[in-house]
Amino acid sequence: MSRRSIYPIFLPHAGCPHRCIFCAQVLTSACICLPDPAVTFETLLVSLPQSGDGELAFYGGSFTLLAEIEQQRWLELGARLLAAGRIAALRISTRPDAVTPAIARRLAAAGVATVELGCQSFDPEVLRRAGRGHSGAAAAQALLLLRAEGIAVGLHLMPGLPGADVGEALHSLEMALALQPDFLRIHPTVVLRGTGLEKLYDSGEYQPLSLPAAVQLGATMLRRARAANIPVIRFGLMANENLDSGAAVVAGPYHPAFGQLIRSRLWFERIALLAERGCCFFRLHPADLADVFGQHRSNFKELNNRYGPLTYECSETLSRETIESAGVFYSLFSEKD
Ligand code: SF4
Repeated sequence: MSRRSIYPIFLPHAGCPHRCIFCAQVLTSACICLPDPAVTFETLLVSLPQSGDGELAFYGGSFTLLAEIEQQRWLELGARLLAAGRIAALRISTRPDAVTPAIARRLAAAGVATVELGCQSFDPEVLRRAGRGHSGAAAAQALLLLRAEGIAVGLHLMPGLPGADVGEALHSLEMALALQPDFLRIHPTVVLRGTGLEKLYDSGEYQPLSLPAAVQLGATMLRRARAANIPVIRFGLMANENLDSGAAVVAGPYHPAFGQLIRSRLWFERIALLAERGCCFFRLHPADLADVFGQHRSNFKELNNRYGPLTYECSETLSRETIESAGVFYSLFSEKD
């Protein structure tokens, strides 16, 4: 799938019928108030490329539950930028239960090419405890309605919500993969300040995943998504000052480079498997080297401690996410060969 630039406009909690237990858009989007469409348009005219294939995205709330007049304002703003060739498509995020046939038709007519649906889980009890207010079936229904209008659909999952465990995360992933979405975003649950989850955590009723556990689970999920040919376009919350400073994070597996931790974990497992069979010389694409070695060279050191010394050579002739040893090529994502 294409990886166009995304220009996000955050509309924190706009349209949301209630506050989900884990959600603090003001902290995760670092936008404290709703932007004004006219001001936003002027800013975009200055900042967008004169001609571009990027997508303007309306994130941070439940777009299709905004008052229709507000949706129209934003979509018209997008249509003007589309007509001027400044962007190539529009993208929105919304709740699975906020898509009807009429809404799907309206979005397609307005040039919306992609909709991101916050599924979070397919387990009814986990959804209930998270205060989502919709079922897993709503996600399947919304996806079908949007796809019938030619709109690409991405699904969001949140491992580690109250009442969830590894089994729930993998079950929800399987349910999501079975729907064949165009992509996934996977955000392990982090306890953010001011949320209902913070109260549960403070009272001892909720314990988030540790960072190592979330990385291990993420590695398993990424391997399965790859096996199903579904891209995971992001793991973990997008870094910002609120999150990186710790001011917004009460507890849980937040890391500004969470996706890299997962890729490094997969490389660790891949190389360890080969080293156990006696391989000690590896060739790989230079762009993979940072992930192979891991942050602070953690993989490099640990693999050498266990199996070393191991030797690595870079070659641009190799494909990304492939490692060669003794003339045999191995994919990063295969578990056994
Ligand atoms: S998770 Fe989505 S629906 Fe729930 S409060 Fe946040 S933005 Fe609104």
